[in-house]
Amino acid sequence: MYARKVSDRVYLLDTYALGQRGTVGAYLIKGPKPALVDCGYASSYQNVLEGLAEAGVMPTDVRYLIPTHVHLDHAGAAGRLLREMPNAEVIAHERSTPHLVDPTRLVESSIMVFGKAIVDLYGAPEPVPAERITSVGKEYHVDLGDGMTALLMHVPGHAPHQISVLLEKSGALLTADAVGIVYPGFNALIPTTPPPSFKPDELAASVGNIRQTNPSELLVPHFGTRSDTEWVFDRTVELVKAWVEEVKEEWRKKATLDEIAEKMEHEVQRDAGVTELPIYAQVSIRTSVMGIMHYLEKNA
Ligand SMILES: [Zn+2]
Repeated sequence: MYARKVSDRVYLLDTYALGQRGTVGAYLIKGPKPALVDCGYASSYQNVLEGLAEAGVMPTDVRYLIPTHVHLDHAGAAGRLLREMPNAEVIAHERSTPHLVDPTRLVESSIMVFGKAIVDLYGAPEPVPAERITSVGKEYHVDLGDGMTALLMHVPGHAPHQISVLLEKSGALLTADAVGIVYPGFNALIPTTPPPSFKPDELAASVGNIRQTNPSELLVPHFGTRSDTEWVFDRTVELVKAWVEEVKEEWRKKATLDEIAEKMEHEVQRDAGVTELPIYAQVSIRTSVMGIMHYLEKNA
């Protein structure tokens, strides 16, 4: 199943990233002007089309494609999908736009983080035509038709160009990676602090800002809906702070990335009450440790 109705007019699309279910999601908001928020890796674009079909939306009906940020798991498929969506306008933060138009640097920095072999599996993002992009700043309203509007809010920290999307009628908040990873059935949160641009203070401030909108529920890209909004916000801020401190301590002792990642994996295992972590959780932890180390190196 590629699409699941999760909220009034909202569908969670499973992009089956690298064949894994329940790891990378996109959200479809149905209505007179359908909007697709995020779209997964380039290599999973066909799964997004399957999801749209299951939700009963034709690609030609999609009016907005809103990548919350340009990381490959959120915007990788944008260029390819736009070829199927001739009526879609892309709405992105102004700092995302250059990377959507020319993904070269983005791919290079992804290769530095994940390695060439994995980035090949993610698929090469196609450029997005500049004339199809509306660039937005701190806040922007999108009219979805039928009295429904979305408020796009700039939420830097995880990435400097990230936005969250508040559906103003229902109060549902599409968080993007402003909150931690909360896999379904996995009882622990994993911070989202990747290289190259993670900034702890901005991340905490962004959580504070979206929290003020008092969302009725959180629609999280990794992965699914949460009604325990306060817990997710609290735990995100608390864990990012704790991880930065812990990684700093290890990093000062000259511990390696592998050593620190293993230590954090054990902590997540303990939190979740499991003895083994799924591979995608391991990758997320390692990426977040890498982002914190990168931040420390830049700010030492
Ligand atoms: Zn992500």
